[in-house]
Amino acid sequence: MPPRVGDKIDVLDHGFVRLDAAEATDLSVVNGARVSFLQMKDELDQKDEGLIRFLIREKHASPFEHNLLRFHIRCPIAVAREWMRHRWSSFNEHSLRYSQAIDEFYIPDVSQVRTQTGKPGSYKFESMDEPVANEVRELMAEQYRSAWKAYEDMLQRGVARELARFVLPVGLYTEFYWSVNARALMNFVSLRNAETAMWEIGRYGEAVEEFFSACMPSTHKAFLEFGRVAP
Ligand SMILES: Cc1cc2nc3c(=O)[nH]c(=O)nc-3n(C[C@H](O)[C@H](O)[C@H](O)COP(=O)(O)OP(=O)(O)OC[C@H]3O[C@@H](n4cnc5c(N)ncnc54)[C@H](O)[C@@H]3O)c2cc1C
Repeated sequence: MPPRVGDKIDVLDHGFVRLDAAEATDLSVVNGARVSFLQMKDELDQKDEGLIRFLIREKHASPFEHNLLRFHIRCPIAVAREWMRHRWSSFNEHSLRYSQAIDEFYIPDVSQVRTQTGKPGSYKFESMDEPVANEVRELMAEQYRSAWKAYEDMLQRGVARELARFVLPVGLYTEFYWSVNARALMNFVSLRNAETAMWEIGRYGEAVEEFFSACMPSTHKAFLEFGRVAP
């Protein structure tokens, strides 16, 4: 069954994508476009699907902005930093000034401990041998433990949370709310659920796209048909 509002898709070792709310339908796209002719419909038919394909193909983008998907995300800070570059959307994030961090850090699966060769834009990644991968995972865990200890020590000495957080690494998990319309979401998934994206954000891109396709199946179908390019 396709995911619905309230559903959560687990991502990486401690993360998730949860669809908190959605006012996002294919009908909003066609009604946005048909207001040009003062026409409005209550149900989507085949002609409307053709209209959606036309709008995507010709990059008539604004009808894809009359909707909103609101997500609750849990991901490592390194993923959140890339995510928050997407300016055409709204964010609110867990504050490490106002509350304490949670002791959860990203450790990749053995298969995702990878090497990197080639040039920017065309990197090739390959899994490392299992014994080396396990050493890398232990190295990461050791660094996280040490950073967490320093963080807790500082808090115990009365150091302000806003200062103590400086020792925490980008593998720490954070949480945020993310609201986005279908046009900006298509731009996000075309860039982030892609071979060229960092593997970790790619898994979040996949989950976001699953929710999008469940809410707006005809729009998603047209997006795929015309090469996953946002209008
Ligand atoms: C594989 C990959 C590698 C990357 N590497 C780097 C990197 O090394 N360093 C780095 O800093 N960033 C990097 N980025 C981030 C990238 O440059 C974008 O900031 C990010 O992907 C957000 O995309 P966007 O601007 O299209 O999205 P949004 O900010 O959501 O904007 C959506 C669209 O609105 C329009 N728009 C938004 N703002 C403006 C504006 N100011 N002027 C004109 N049009 C605008 C554009 O059409 C844009 O596509 C990388 C991204 C990817 C996917």
